[in-house]
Amino acid sequence: MKTLLRDCMIWDGSGAAAFPGDVLVEGDHIRHVSRGSSKIPADDAEVIDAQGMTLMPGLVEGHAHLSFCGAARNTDLGDIPPEEHVIETLHNAKTLLDAGFTSAYSAASAKLRLDVVVRNEVNSGRSPGPRIRAAGPEITVTGGLGDENKQHMMRDSFGIVADGPEAIARAVRTCIREGVDNIKINISGDDFVPAKGGMTVMREDEVRMACEVAHSYNRRVAAHARASEAVKRAVTCGVDVIYHCDMADSEALDLLEAARDRVFVGPAIGLIWNTLHEAEAWGITTAVARDLGMERCIENSQKTYEQMRKRGIRVVIGGDYGFAWTPQGTNARDLEHFVKLFGYSPSEALQCATRVGGELMGLPLGTVKEGQLADLLVVDGNPLQDLRILQDKARLKLIMKNGKAYRSSLSATGIGRERRAA
Ligand SMILES: [Zn+2]
Repeated sequence: MKTLLRDCMIWDGSGAAAFPGDVLVEGDHIRHVSRGSSKIPADDAEVIDAQGMTLMPGLVEGHAHLSFCGAARNTDLGDIPPEEHVIETLHNAKTLLDAGFTSAYSAASAKLRLDVVVRNEVNSGRSPGPRIRAAGPEITVTGGLGDENKQHMMRDSFGIVADGPEAIARAVRTCIREGVDNIKINISGDDFVPAKGGMTVMREDEVRMACEVAHSYNRRVAAHARASEAVKRAVTCGVDVIYHCDMADSEALDLLEAARDRVFVGPAIGLIWNTLHEAEAWGITTAVARDLGMERCIENSQKTYEQMRKRGIRVVIGGDYGFAWTPQGTNARDLEHFVKLFGYSPSEALQCATRVGGELMGLPLGTVKEGQLADLLVVDGNPLQDLRILQDKARLKLIMKNGKAYRSSLSATGIGRERRAA
């Protein structure tokens, strides 16, 4: 099957300026990209007229929580029965694809097999969703982020509690046995829970064990790490994806920079921003959010990510969408935060969401180049002039994943189309 996308303004994800051209998709990949229109013969391809609109790579959510379905408290996620939770997660996968995200790199699943079964269901072609790298729950130490238990009361949220290297090894192996692609560990705490963000609570031998075991199965490790010490521990022990890093000092930044060909980072700033500014309906006034340290976290993140950008460290978008005040499907808001808070140009922010995201996924995607997987968007308007366009689903005129139009409001003609109709 071939599709020829004609009369596009191609932004290819490399950082180069957009140019007019055509794109030929064959099977699941991009076969040819031409500069200038009508240079590729239609032959037996279905022809889609993009009417001069922007063609760009599909977006990559770099910190996805597909199973987070509007939780106001962490324990809300533990309270959902597994059957309902599968359906909710599947629904969120569709919501993400509808929002132009053709890939999702999971930063943890609320229950062990939620990401896994939804990934498998999407891969089977029966249900819509992005490409998914599935994660397990957040492996955490007693009293860390994700341990909601009390002495008198067992409560779940999104964590697996494990203390000591052997228990950590067992937790990692269990997640892998059940089919995850990514392991998530919580090295620092977080200001929402008793183990604060500035505390580095998972021991070095525990982090090292998690990485050793995961890597022996060729799985990736992602870490929650706010404190500077937690970031350093993550880098030196071999963690692949380090989230937050807001308190990273210059020594931690030096380590990240030295490892920049190996590691990815993600600020996950959307949740912090919305907690400070948009969570009043849930009782979190600006004053409460300040007390929770949200303002300080944004200030720290601004300083840190300015440095990340200047030092060429690979940063992905993804802002912990899936809480009550960060609804799934609003994930493209992160792009604006990258520009306004961290000083990225619109093109740089979009590269974080496409090219860098493709590298994170470990797949040939995220740029519009020959041989890449055909995960593409046609957007009405120029996102480089106004990134908010990407938050408007009505502007996404075509969402293509793996060479197939998932959703399109563009007219198509040509032999390919007639053949299929017959
Ligand atoms: Zn998260």
